[in-house]
This record gives sequence, C-alpha cells and structure tokens, in this order.
Amino acid sequence: MKNRCKDCGKCCLETEMILSQNDINSITHNHQSNIKVKEFAFMNNSKQYQLKNKKGHCVFLESSLKICTIYQYRPQGCKFYPLIFDLNRNICKFDEDCPRTILFYKNKEKLRTTCKKLKRYLKIELAIKIK
Ligand code: SF4
Ligand code: SF4
Repeated sequence: MKNRCKDCGKCCLETEMILSQNDINSITHNHQSNIKVKEFAFMNNSKQYQLKNKKGHCVFLESSLKICTIYQYRPQGCKFYPLIFDLNRNICKFDEDCPRTILFYKNKEKLRTTCKKLKRYLKIELAIKIK
C-alpha cells in the first residue's frame, strides 16, 4: 500500500470494487498460486464482477498488517481510489469514506488528468454510460 495508506486499509473493508476483464486477467496471470476467478470475485446483479470479501474485508487484504497482497497488480479502481466518479453529478470526487483524501492528488493538473483516465476507464472497460 502507498505510504499515505499506512495502517489504514479502510477502503479494503467490505469492498464493493468492480473488476474489469483486464483486472481479472491481470490477477489470474500474476498471482503466485493458480488462483481461479471464483476465489476472488463474484458476478453482481448488474452482471459485473466484483471483488469478494472474506471476514469483512477484501480477500486480498492481509488484515493483521493492513497490506494489499496484490498491490503491484491491484484492480484499476483501487489505483484510482480515493478518486471516484459521481454518475449523478457527472464529476470526479474524493470518496468521503477515505479519511486521508487531503494526501492524494495534490497537483491540480494531475487530478484533472486522472479524472479523464477514470472516465475513460469506466466507459471503455466497464461499459458504464457517462454523459
Ligand atoms: S481509505 Fe484512503 S488512506 Fe485508507 S487505505 Fe484507502 S485510500 Fe488509503
Ligand atoms: S485489491 Fe488490494 S487495494 Fe483493492 S480492495 Fe483488495 S486489498 Fe484493497
């Protein structure tokens, strides 16, 4: 996890992170064991894959150390976080569940660029309709 996330891991509790096909391919390809999709994801009612939880946290969280065990190839949505997209307001925003948003994307230009990437990711990889 990034240093600014040290000893937190809050976003990995009861995660609802959606996975793209690329995320799934990356995890199954890079994981040290021969992990199967059903071990870490399930299909939700919208026919999208979502990360599974185990004992209240993401299956990939090492809960005692608060470390993501697949950090190098974690899902794209986890990389963007705490930046999320508000579909109703059509804007990128910080998720209020993250207690340290102030530490992220301090550079306004970087924030704008990442917002564009986030929108493109949602449209292309998750096929979410965005205005
Ligand atoms: S909730 Fe925020 S600070 Fe905590 S681990 Fe997630 S991104 Fe990092
Ligand atoms: S994949 Fe890693 S960063 Fe993403 S929710 Fe799971 S433990 Fe957290």
